[in-house]
Amino acid sequence: DVQVSLKGAELTEAFKKFLETYRSKEGLRKYMERIGQMIVTGQKSLTVDFMDLIEYDRALASTVLDNPGEAIERFSEAVKLVVERENPEYARKIVKFYPRFRNPPETHRIRDISSDYIGKLIAIEGIVTRVTKIDAKIVKATYRHRDPETGIHEFIYPDEGEIGERFEKPVYCPVCGKPGRFELLPEKSTFIDWQKIVVQEKPEEVPGGQIPRSIEVILTGDIVDVARPGDRVIVIGTLRVAPISSLERHSPRALFSFYIDANNIEVQEKVLEEIEITDEDEKRIRELAKDPWIREKIIASIAPGIYGYWDIKEAIALLLLGGVQKILQDGTRIRGDIHVLLVGDPGTAKSQLLQFTSRLAPRGLYTSGKGSTAAGLTATVLRDKMTGEYYLEAGALVIADGGVACIDEIDKMREEDRSAIHEALEQQTVSIAKAGIVARLNARSSVLAAGNPKDGRYDPTKPVSKNIDLPPTILSRFDLIFTIRDIPNTGQDKRLARHILGVHSEADKTRSLIDLTLLKKYISYARRYVRPQLTPEAARLIEEFYVSMRQSSISSDPSQPTAIAITPRQLEAIIRLTEAHARLSLKNRATVEDAEEAIRLMLVMLSKIGMD
Ligand code: ADP
Ligand code: MG
Repeated sequence: DVQVSLKGAELTEAFKKFLETYRSKEGLRKYMERIGQMIVTGQKSLTVDFMDLIEYDRALASTVLDNPGEAIERFSEAVKLVVERENPEYARKIVKFYPRFRNPPETHRIRDISSDYIGKLIAIEGIVTRVTKIDAKIVKATYRHRDPETGIHEFIYPDEGEIGERFEKPVYCPVCGKPGRFELLPEKSTFIDWQKIVVQEKPEEVPGGQIPRSIEVILTGDIVDVARPGDRVIVIGTLRVAPISSLERHSPRALFSFYIDANNIEVQEKVLEEIEITDEDEKRIRELAKDPWIREKIIASIAPGIYGYWDIKEAIALLLLGGVQKILQDGTRIRGDIHVLLVGDPGTAKSQLLQFTSRLAPRGLYTSGKGSTAAGLTATVLRDKMTGEYYLEAGALVIADGGVACIDEIDKMREEDRSAIHEALEQQTVSIAKAGIVARLNARSSVLAAGNPKDGRYDPTKPVSKNIDLPPTILSRFDLIFTIRDIPNTGQDKRLARHILGVHSEADKTRSLIDLTLLKKYISYARRYVRPQLTPEAARLIEEFYVSMRQSSISSDPSQPTAIAITPRQLEAIIRLTEAHARLSLKNRATVEDAEEAIRLMLVMLSKIGMD
């Protein structure tokens, strides 16, 4: 049968009927209950599951998608009508109710947004990278008109509807009909909270090598301040366009930029839910884990095109899997994320390793030390040149929250990041307070960083802290540091040359032992479901090692500068590495063999970076 899309009062009536009659699977009148709760808790917004609307009446749901401007307005009236009947007093108190949709039938990729969708309701997924502070937007103004002849009049403007994007002033007084000077009375006007944010594509969804796309989103009313930079969100709203401001005021350009006038924003469950793992996948993953050589196979699958570097590849595998985060009873959080730093001569495949890792990580991001935006590695407060608005912008470690940040040339980071990165690496938060914006953002990412030696070449006679332009306080926050030296060595060079020539002649050589899509799922699975616990024997071994390291660091020559003091940080690092090593073969118990391997890697590091 032919579906006619409803308008005006009929549309309001249709929504009202939906609210009154829709029954959930359990037979409950879901929306009547929600309206009851809304009244009790003193709210103005009613959350509506889009899937319920589709199930109830497909045509009505399409009207919302195709003509959201009118539909949301009518839906809002429908809520008001129901509230008026249920609780007339509350309906009188609240000027306007807001239906807020969740669970959209589909989400669009930010890069697929086009002019075809202007004026339509769409949903997007992405990461919040920028937020302004909250401002008040005027929706209904009250003016005072003083006229020498007719006296003082007050009037509301606009008389119907609300003030839109542009603040237009009245041309004449509706009381006396004369033009004149009108004084705005803010205390008698109506405002709503207003905030602008920018949502960017998720790093793992950006096609290789391309710049992530983003879109501005306007939030109003009770959905301001819901999301922070770094949050992964679903935004549902109307796609609109705004003229791109031009410096030549007299010849405005015909260009407009897209933005979303949000109806709703939902912050997604943080970490964990990344890649879909089917039952079939789980079977294959469990099968793989039974292989006695699984650990070696995983390590060999890391950047197979790069020759050698077994220990570094093992460290990367452990970083990808991570240790177990602990939250103590007093609320203190000990990170499970592992940070690894590579310091080495130019041309030793550091960048290649980082790029590979960012692609293999379930949530990976590759950036240079300067960062790809003005926000650098942590965060910053900036001012928009056109509008003068201050906004908070997230840097790489915040955007990589819940994933792996691969930071190349970390020694070139911005001055501001040098202080802020301490907190970002250890507490995994970024705090900022500037220009009225105060925030603490999450930066729960693992960092794989690379840096070049200060003097071009690594000098093995000096400790690592003298070789790289990073203070010991930053170095000590890395669980493992590797130095890579490019020393001519005929035997080694020949093997490397053959390897590279092989890579260049037959693509087969670079194939991983484990298919990378499966490996990615394996990593995701291990992070999600495997939480290894140290066995008492493993704990004892780690304790003994730590105590002996502390002793030897005290008894050593005090005039000899050590790169990194052995502190409880290194103890925590060994625990994380031990847990990550157990995860390699999906073990729930981290045993002595795992601890031995963690200790071996720690000793490799200490022997190379200028310790005793
Ligand atoms: P870096 O970032 O350390 O300066 P790059 O990652 O840019 O070095 O590497 C330079 C080039 O040398 C790359 O094409 C890389 O593949 C090659 N290369 C260097 N070392 C190796 C290696 N061990 N195996 C394979 N290729 C290598
Ligand atoms: Mg490089």
